[in-house]
Amino acid sequence: MSERTTTRGACLCGAVTLELTTDAGTVMVHCHCAMCRKTAGGSFATWIDVPAADARINGELRAFRSSPDVARSFCAGCGTAVSWQRDGEPIITIHAGLVDGDPGCRPRAHIWTEHKAPWVTITDGLPAYPRSRF
Ligand SMILES: [Zn+2]
Ligand SMILES: [Zn+2]
Repeated sequence: MSERTTTRGACLCGAVTLELTTDAGTVMVHCHCAMCRKTAGGSFATWIDVPAADARINGELRAFRSSPDVARSFCAGCGTAVSWQRDGEPIITIHAGLVDGDPGCRPRAHIWTEHKAPWVTITDGLPAYPRSRF
């Protein structure tokens, strides 16, 4: 059993706060799909997957459905992307960029690299998958 850590995070304006419980085995990935790139406003998005009970999110969120069964939430005040979750799934996926401390986990893969931005070169040695999860 690895040590469990509780880490705090917040959106840019501070109205949405979160507390995540994670450990070294928590899934963290870089996603290069077009939806994640646009949601994050970055070259890719880094995600942390946790059981919904291990993510305590407070503050006013809005949600956008990027797929019929997927809701992506963002801060109602500043628009910072916070999370996404598939309807009925026990796992919520949090934007790692919100985390202010060290959650103890590290990225284990790049996914959806078939949609990778042309200016991105992967040089960190992590496995890269053309599509979804390894
Ligand atoms: Zn905000
Ligand atoms: Zn993605």
